[in-house]
Amino acid sequence: MAIGDFHTHSIHSDGKLSLAELSAMAARNGVQVMALSDHDSTAGLRQMATALNQYGIRLIPGVELSTDIPGSEIHVLGYFMDIDDPHFQDELLRFREGRLGRGMRMVEKLRDLGMDVSWERVQEIAGDASVGRPHVAQHMVERGHVQSIPEAFDKYIGRDGPAYAERDKLTPGQAIALINGAGGIASVAHPQYTPNLEETLAELKEQGLTGMEVYYKDLSPDRVEWLLSIATRLGLLPTGGSDFHGLGNPGEREVGRIPLPDAAVAALLASGEDRAMPIVVPGS
Ligand code: AMP
Ligand code: ZN
Ligand code: FE
Ligand code: FE
Repeated sequence: MAIGDFHTHSIHSDGKLSLAELSAMAARNGVQVMALSDHDSTAGLRQMATALNQYGIRLIPGVELSTDIPGSEIHVLGYFMDIDDPHFQDELLRFREGRLGRGMRMVEKLRDLGMDVSWERVQEIAGDASVGRPHVAQHMVERGHVQSIPEAFDKYIGRDGPAYAERDKLTPGQAIALINGAGGIASVAHPQYTPNLEETLAELKEQGLTGMEVYYKDLSPDRVEWLLSIATRLGLLPTGGSDFHGLGNPGEREVGRIPLPDAAVAALLASGEDRAMPIVVPGS
């Protein structure tokens, strides 16, 4: 059990829980400080700070950006940005809009494969959220075309699947620059999925990367040790989070149920002290 968790998702992107539900879970699990890191959206942050405040939990600003590298993608977490920075928000809006056309194209492809799915229903499931593939997957499950969300990814909407569609994404260097430009720091999410990891991270560090996610979800002590050794060699700040979505996928960990040491929590908070927004003030 950890006192911090710096990678979580809510109904403002592809997470299942409302901000009130997510806050209650954090409190139940003894979390003292956390980040909400919705995909391409900071819309939940102020309300989340207020919801957490009643439990005495602090919120730091977070976001997760998906970026393209040849043949794969890298997710970049941003912390401590000024969430009112106009350029930063314009870019997030552009990414969310890109998700709409891309979602529509995936629904078209699924229909061409003979599935009874509709874009209207995907949007209904997503609500006001930044639309993601998990919303499409939930619709496929409810129509009985697949049994589970992972099956939807494996068979249809994963990167190599027949119904996958691309959208315009930044390069990792551009995402890092966007986050740094808004006064924040960037950390590579779930780096264990990144090809040529150490070489790639070394390059990104040159481009302004501050950290990498070492304490992730249900990662084994061996894997954590391996990632930590890379972080140490490269001088990257080891960050951690559950990546909780509440979708019940295998390996899911509740908010705070991660092997994140107190010292890593303190180190992240210290690195935020001289940044644009070290904490989200409740009720503002
Ligand atoms: P998107 O941002 O629309 O490209 O969707 C990516 C999101 O889908 C990730 O952040 C995960 O939450 C989820 N996801 C990716 N791969 C899988 C998978 N194989 N099974 C279940 N969920 C996945
Ligand atoms: Zn997600
Ligand atoms: Fe991610
Ligand atoms: Fe995530």
